[in-house]
Amino acid sequence: MIGNGMTRRTFIEAGGGVATASLAMAASPAAALLQSGGATVKGQPLPDGVKLPTVAPKRKRPDSVGFAIVGLGGYALNQMMPRFDQAERAHIAAIVSGNPNKLTRVGDAYGVPADARYSYEDFAKIASDDRIDAVYIVLPTGLHAEWVTRAFAARKHVLCEKPMALSSAECARMIAAGQRAKRKLMIAYRSHFEPYNLEAMKLMQQKAAGDIRLVRTEQSYRMGPTSPSQNWRTSRALAGGGPLEDYGIYGLQSALYLTGEMPESISATTFRPTGDPRFAEIFAHVASQWRFPSGAVAQLVTSYDSAGTNFAHVRGTTGALIMDPATSYSGQKMRLEGRDDREFTPGDPSVQFARQLDHFADAVRDNAAIRTPGEMGLRDLRLIEAIYAAAADGRTVKLAPDGTMRG
Ligand code: NAD
Repeated sequence: MIGNGMTRRTFIEAGGGVATASLAMAASPAAALLQSGGATVKGQPLPDGVKLPTVAPKRKRPDSVGFAIVGLGGYALNQMMPRFDQAERAHIAAIVSGNPNKLTRVGDAYGVPADARYSYEDFAKIASDDRIDAVYIVLPTGLHAEWVTRAFAARKHVLCEKPMALSSAECARMIAAGQRAKRKLMIAYRSHFEPYNLEAMKLMQQKAAGDIRLVRTEQSYRMGPTSPSQNWRTSRALAGGGPLEDYGIYGLQSALYLTGEMPESISATTFRPTGDPRFAEIFAHVASQWRFPSGAVAQLVTSYDSAGTNFAHVRGTTGALIMDPATSYSGQKMRLEGRDDREFTPGDPSVQFARQLDHFADAVRDNAAIRTPGEMGLRDLRLIEAIYAAAADGRTVKLAPDGTMRG
């Protein structure tokens, strides 16, 4: 049981593992084109408090990669789009939105030419727009698979926000679409470009806390009153099971890159209160316990209904690495406790956004290897599925080294 009478099968059928529309849909009428397993693109108003630039950012190099930004929501407008100004080899070439007012206001502020402002209905036309090399998908998660596939159909490279999709089957189809189109696919796991997390990976490889025995991660915040019709993060079709895919995925990632191991077994539990519209379709908490081949164990907790925190702790045979906050946009803190206590300040966390863009640009232009490819997103969705399966069935799930469930 996943919770409240929901079995794993009914959860998946209800949209927890939303099926992706196939490429064949590209020939369908516009209305059908915009739908994918119950998830539909829908223009939204400009989020409150967005500060648009007063001077449009300039392209810096002739070989800069031109991005079409798909989905002008909070993360795109508040975090990523302003960071293109700090990138060396990436610029905003086009924007895609379902809200004409946003297209005008954001397009004017970022100096996007009027003929490079696309609606979702016009999206396929980007195929013949040579100003666009790559598409950055910043839509609600339940729309990633569909729009990544469309971007590949237009023969563009794709940077896709985390989580990659809502099921491993969707991830596999996205990877296959990229391979068919011979285009790059990268998942926007920004912590792989953030100085504290990079330093933490190095420290753990160097056994700065000895041999790793215990890992604890927690990503939580308390969501205000809302419901699936008001907030996509509470809609199963758009957000899957909720906090694990959205926020807990940072803890999942940390547990993997800090240990350098894949779990061999997972047990888990979920909770969904009755009568709370926030949790009509998603979970309030998801907790899982992992065992690694080395014998290390990890406890991962994530919640949308408890006071905010975001930490990763690794305890080894000689000390402990404490990251708190661990994977924020800024303000990271990290210390090593044990034989030689030390506070680390390896650099400004806010470089992670532009570095991520430049890394992808290097992959597009120089064929450089991608640190966070689609295969990593697929691996993580397999683990998320294993967590839900373990919780649903009340058993320990055994895993193959690639994260697929055994038996
Ligand atoms: P948001 O609600 O602020 O914006 C989503 C945008 O998608 C909307 O503004 C709208 O432009 C578009 N959209 C199209 N169809 C929609 C629909 N049916 N319902 C709602 N919006 C629709 O969300 P966000 O916080 O910007 O998240 C977008 C993506 O970015 C998600 O995949 C999320 O996981 C990811 N994200 C990543 C980080 C990170 O740190 N890497 C942080 C926040 C969000």
